[in-house]
Amino acid sequence: MLLENMSYKEVEIYLQEKDTVLVPIGSVEQHSPYGLIGTDFITAEAVAREVGKRLDLLVAPTLPYGMSQHHMGFKGSITLSPQTYISVIKGITTSFLEHGFQRIIYINGHGGNINPTKVAFDQLKYEGNRGIYQIISWFLLEDVLTLAKELFQDLEGHHATPSEVSITKFLRPEAFEGKSTQPKKVEKPQYYWPLNKDEFKKLFPDGRMESAPWLATEKYGKLILEEAVRATINEVRNILKMEVV
Ligand SMILES: [Zn+2]
Repeated sequence: MLLENMSYKEVEIYLQEKDTVLVPIGSVEQHSPYGLIGTDFITAEAVAREVGKRLDLLVAPTLPYGMSQHHMGFKGSITLSPQTYISVIKGITTSFLEHGFQRIIYINGHGGNINPTKVAFDQLKYEGNRGIYQIISWFLLEDVLTLAKELFQDLEGHHATPSEVSITKFLRPEAFEGKSTQPKKVEKPQYYWPLNKDEFKKLFPDGRMESAPWLATEKYGKLILEEAVRATINEVRNILKMEVV
């Protein structure tokens, strides 16, 4: 059930029975020469929409832009500041609360969104808002990490991973025409976090972080997406069991 295709009358009817909405969030940022700039929102959207379909839950339009300041050394990356991102998440959450939603679940495809989203939740509670706010990052769920380890061993890495590139290859194979597939060395430099855009580029000059995205295939993408959906459903089911106080 996609919010963007509904009328307000249909949302009123949905709210008579349910109080949950899934909101896909991602980023618009470089994913090395091997991956798509839209990777993080494309994967989050696919997971959220499939979960919504299987659990019969409302899915909001995707928020594509994220907090990606460390990728700004690469052309085509777009970032919101942490402060702006916090405000955007607050605005989306309070809009749903105002209309009677009580469980607002963000399905996330990008690590950089996690901190500001949690700060937004803290701020909403500080201001006295009711309800359950959660962020589920599909790529950090234990079953997904286990599968990635099985498929790619220690070459999964942390950015432009073969897992996320596989999912986008499965979903948008035509977008990969002309993308690099040449294997390269996988460097594992010592680094601290966060990094600014110059520090990031110095340590990870082609935009990968300890990953081997050339290992990505459509077949793996189908497998990993299914695992991500399954693991996210488990998380969402737990949230549905919680009582809103
Ligand atoms: Zn990514």
